[in-house]
Amino acid sequence: YFLKRIKENADLNVFLEVYEEEAIEKAKEIDKKIANGQGGKLAGMVIGVKDVLAHKDHGLQASSKILEGFKSQFTATAIQRLIDEDVIIIGRQNCDEFAMGSSNENSAFGPTKNFADKTRVPGGSSGASAVAVQADLCHASIGSDTGGSVRQPASFCGVVGFKPSYGRISRWGLAAYASSFDCIGPITHSVDDAALLLEIMAGQDEFDSTVSTLEVPKYSENLTDSKTYKIGYFKDALDSEGLDNETKAATLAKLEELKNAGHTLVELKFPQMKYLLPTYYILTMAEASSNLSRYDGIRFGHRNTEAKNLEELYKKTRGEGFGAEVKKRIMLGSFILSADYYDAYYTKAQRVRRKIKEQTQGFFDEVDFIVSPTTPSPAFKIGEKSDNQIQMFLADIFTVHANVIGYPCISIPNSKNKEGLPIGFQILGMEFKEEKLLNFAKHIH
Ligand code: GLN
Repeated sequence: YFLKRIKENADLNVFLEVYEEEAIEKAKEIDKKIANGQGGKLAGMVIGVKDVLAHKDHGLQASSKILEGFKSQFTATAIQRLIDEDVIIIGRQNCDEFAMGSSNENSAFGPTKNFADKTRVPGGSSGASAVAVQADLCHASIGSDTGGSVRQPASFCGVVGFKPSYGRISRWGLAAYASSFDCIGPITHSVDDAALLLEIMAGQDEFDSTVSTLEVPKYSENLTDSKTYKIGYFKDALDSEGLDNETKAATLAKLEELKNAGHTLVELKFPQMKYLLPTYYILTMAEASSNLSRYDGIRFGHRNTEAKNLEELYKKTRGEGFGAEVKKRIMLGSFILSADYYDAYYTKAQRVRRKIKEQTQGFFDEVDFIVSPTTPSPAFKIGEKSDNQIQMFLADIFTVHANVIGYPCISIPNSKNKEGLPIGFQILGMEFKEEKLLNFAKHIH
């Protein structure tokens, strides 16, 4: 069924590679296992994987020319855990190059289209992973979220996108963008599926020392309570000019609905909100410039063949291999980390990051969750913001908060605008309190 759907919808540009024969073989194998009563917890679930996660003997390119022809020698821990529970991996999915972007337009393989309106972007960077779920090309996708890349596309495509706490899921086998922000997360139709996938992917791993040693609860079995909560929101953000009218109306309607369901709304003041985007972009660019130095033409993928010495080999390979957005971030990141500016930018941003975390922790003394729209507007047109970097960055205003502080955050569909474009609703929970967050999300979805 899914293989047929993928072929019929090839114009969406979702899959970079489909593992057709392998998927069918695997399905037969799993059928036998099920017949013998030995099927895993996810037996037969069909999963698409964003092209940033390693899968042994399969291509891995982070949608970049620089990794042309590269095949993984091992499998990401999160993906291996899914395979061990008998999922079928149907293919790898397009995304913004090295997960840098908010529209899927920065891919070396061209943009992916939103299934609700093919002239619009699906969001990014896990844009294709969200469309795959939206257009019914697989049961669920696994993406990565450094500043909103799972939640923002989920919102643009009307599906569920979940970013767990930093360190909840091992990053082993995830192509690094900004290591202190990167999280793996599921994109699904339901909160139940997100809970189930999280429970299987999460937990300690000897290959990633930043993974939490906290026990992993059985999230999927504990989605039953429907308590009433204290729910915080930033009123100033809802009054800001940059917020699209229909998105604002949909968010206010949702708040009203929550109030009527017995929850208490709490208005919060967050003057530091204006520092979120600068802090996020300074730190992620710094980390990216360091992480991406490994693509030197020697170890992975593409290599220039005309270079006459080592330095030329680096320059030519990187010049040819990286796209414009990635180059820009490497250059800005190197500048931010340079001896003369390190303290002014990098150290300062680290301090602001700490302050924002403290302030947010304070909010959670008062409230159980903080809610907002996931994005300031629904999906924009392909090409609409590609020449306007600031506009593109502003689209991340609500999502980066969770990554700056490392807290879990989910986007669930809220409503649709007049043109039928999905509008998402975002819920931020307390660090490592995924269970409570998923419970609440399920009950208001
Ligand atoms: N749009 C953000 C960026 O370009 C988020 C990307 C992500 O979460 N990977 O950095």
